[in-house]
Amino acid sequence: MRIGILGGGQLARMLALGGHPLGATFVILDPVHDACASAVARHITGDYTDQEKLKQFAGMIDIVTYEFENVPAEAVEYLATKLPVYPPVHALAMSRDRLYEKSLFRDLGIPTPKFFNVTSLDELRQAAKEVGLPAVLKSRTLGYDGKGQAVIRSMDELENAWSSRLAGVDCILEAFVNFKREISVVAVRSRAGEIIFYPVGENVHSEGILRHSVCSLNDPMQKLAEDYITRLLNNFDYVGVMALELFDTGGELMANEIAPRVHNTGHWTIEGAQTSQFENHIRAIMGLPLGGTSPIGHCAMINFIGTIPPPAPVLEIKGAHYHNYGKAPVPGRKLGHVTVCGENQKEVKAGMKKVLALIAG
Ligand code: AMP
Repeated sequence: MRIGILGGGQLARMLALGGHPLGATFVILDPVHDACASAVARHITGDYTDQEKLKQFAGMIDIVTYEFENVPAEAVEYLATKLPVYPPVHALAMSRDRLYEKSLFRDLGIPTPKFFNVTSLDELRQAAKEVGLPAVLKSRTLGYDGKGQAVIRSMDELENAWSSRLAGVDCILEAFVNFKREISVVAVRSRAGEIIFYPVGENVHSEGILRHSVCSLNDPMQKLAEDYITRLLNNFDYVGVMALELFDTGGELMANEIAPRVHNTGHWTIEGAQTSQFENHIRAIMGLPLGGTSPIGHCAMINFIGTIPPPAPVLEIKGAHYHNYGKAPVPGRKLGHVTVCGENQKEVKAGMKKVLALIAG
């Protein structure tokens, strides 16, 4: 089967690597000439809204998937008139807009921080009174890795946040959550509606970017996280992998956002689970039986951001698996990751410590 992926970054690259053993072939559409997935897929270099390129892309593939949620809507809508698109277009549309996303959480009974739509400074002032401070002002669309958001700690900061950071953009204001930890659950739903889950990941972010994620076996929040993501998956009649990011406030979970795609907090599954999230996404969209999601021992994933060490010192660490995405180093850019696997938590923690020391050095 020929699979088209909108976007040619590291997620597309790992999807292709996961799908090749199944006999799938891959074509990516990405405007960047050296998109890192082009090492493992045919590459159409072109804008997502270029009708000619879209037509060419559609002619080379049997089904379409995507690796990021900010794909222009018109590109996906056009492709959906010609080919099956997985995950479904309405899941993509929902996840692209934080207002719709949070409203859906509320409608499905999934707790989420209190939020208000704000379109003016006056509305922002009113929302701040309702939500209380601190609060987080977030752009409704095009926000990822903490981009397009500002924490507001006092009423004095309101005006500044509105005019200098997010002015002119549709926003929501949401309550700041004093979470105990951030977790995510990654699940996959087949075309027949079967849903299976990976163990939740315990995630650490800094400056809005995921730094590391530890696979949490027998997590006390596993079942609740599974319940919430199941409601979302069934709501969309979803096909493929989805991730749900949650705040754990200590016995309660609040949904932050969904990703209708494979997710950074699921990268550990390549070496750490019976079937990786990438292979399972491809299996789901091809209509194949899903693969087991059970973990193989303990493991954690650490991102290389801005710089990437050479492989040798990383691979000297017991249980370490090195991934270099082949991207040019730019501050704040995800360039690769390492997964540390071990027989117990202590071994994994020791390996993580060594990786973090290498990154710091
Ligand atoms: P997001 O782009 O919404 O995933 O946010 C990026 C990161 O900012 C999250 O992973 C959290 O660490 C932090 N964050 C986002 N929203 C909130 C919130 N309402 N309260 C506290 N921290 C938040």
